[in-house]
Amino acid sequence: MRPLLKCPNCERAWSTKDCAARETILCDCGHGLVVPDVRSTAIAAASNAAEAVHDLLAFAREGNQLGSTAYSVSVGEKLADAFRLAIDAQGGPEDDDEAQFYSAALKYLDPAALLTPEGERP
Ligand SMILES: [Zn+2]
Repeated sequence: MRPLLKCPNCERAWSTKDCAARETILCDCGHGLVVPDVRSTAIAAASNAAEAVHDLLAFAREGNQLGSTAYSVSVGEKLADAFRLAIDAQGGPEDDDEAQFYSAALKYLDPAALLTPEGERP
């Protein structure tokens, strides 16, 4: 498991699982650490995935109601962004295959539309 957080004082590391549902961690060495806001990132990923699921189900039930486009949102883009945010929330790609797909998703997504985990434009 890839560490999400490292103590700058003693190099102790915590996994995403260790950090789950915690806002701060007190290291054994006494150093206090702020856990990155992975919950907001995970919620953003879930929200994108839910929008895509909604449009896919509407299309499956009702067919193409919009004329020129199949979906009211770009389903591919929403799912790609959901994937990107899900990987961000876990602290980055876990292996080479995931890193390749992550990098391809970043290229596919409009860089201007991407938000960093802090909510700022890169
Ligand atoms: Zn420490």
